[in-house]
Amino acid sequence: MTLDSTWYTEQWSGQGSAISLKIRDKVHDERSPYQRIEIYETETFGTLMTLDGLVMVTDRDNFIYHEMMSHPALFTHPRPRRVLIIGGGDCGTLREVLKHPSVELAEQVELDERVTRVSERYFPELCASNGDPRAQLRFDDGIRWVARAQAGSYDVIIVDSTDPVGPAAGLFSEEFYRNCFRALGDRGILAGQSESPLFHPQLIRSMHQALRTAGFLDTAVLSFPQCTYPSGWWSATLACKDASLSGFRQEAVAEKTFPTRYYNLGVHTAAMATPEFLYELLL
Ligand code: SAM
Repeated sequence: MTLDSTWYTEQWSGQGSAISLKIRDKVHDERSPYQRIEIYETETFGTLMTLDGLVMVTDRDNFIYHEMMSHPALFTHPRPRRVLIIGGGDCGTLREVLKHPSVELAEQVELDERVTRVSERYFPELCASNGDPRAQLRFDDGIRWVARAQAGSYDVIIVDSTDPVGPAAGLFSEEFYRNCFRALGDRGILAGQSESPLFHPQLIRSMHQALRTAGFLDTAVLSFPQCTYPSGWWSATLACKDASLSGFRQEAVAEKTFPTRYYNLGVHTAAMATPEFLYELLL
């Protein structure tokens, strides 16, 4: 990350590209036990949070990511009641999960409590549902949490993690997926953020292989625009313990009882379409 007086610039040196956001002010900077947390006020993207110099959330475009990390998975499970979110400290995914009336428990296991406390202050709208009686905020390592979880104790597990380095690396491993498989009920669904289809296709491939080796019967990659993440194009990977991911609850999506800004029936269907280069990679 470089910052001159008015621009936040994040360079992806291996890709020879970068993103810049014009900033008004830097309003917060701390080093938690796990990472550096910085908050900026930008000219046109609202508030921006970075972790270790990488964009996590902006006011303007986070709705696309949070909706795509949650609703496709929850509308694929026949009746999601117990949901586990790993990471997700900004609480935007939690807010989306709690929009589903069938959800009785949404447990979030975030490694770094400071990410959530800083988000409560600077992203109050993302944290608006934290007081919901169905929400349980835990601060722990998600890898350890899932390894210790009771068999069959969750319907959906959402891995809303940072990039696969440092403490998040194990969240992309076969052993972790095996533990998720065990912790999920018979019709369980896993959703994990899976980086950029353009910049990280090999990561997506290894995720799908690891998920299938861990026992999941079907996997699919859902792609969507995310202009502040590397390449501007991002993905979520879905995996299910039985049947096929194409059989999601289309009627329930069409008649959903809560508002979304990006997700709808057409978007879910279109996001499931696999671009040719990914199709060949995932064969
Ligand atoms: N939307 C973001 C993205 O794709 O770049 C992810 C946002 S969310 C803030 C990611 C969170 O994962 C961070 O707050 C980080 O602390 C958390 N995290 C990383 N490794 C973890 C682990 N092993 N267990 C639980 N949380 C973890």
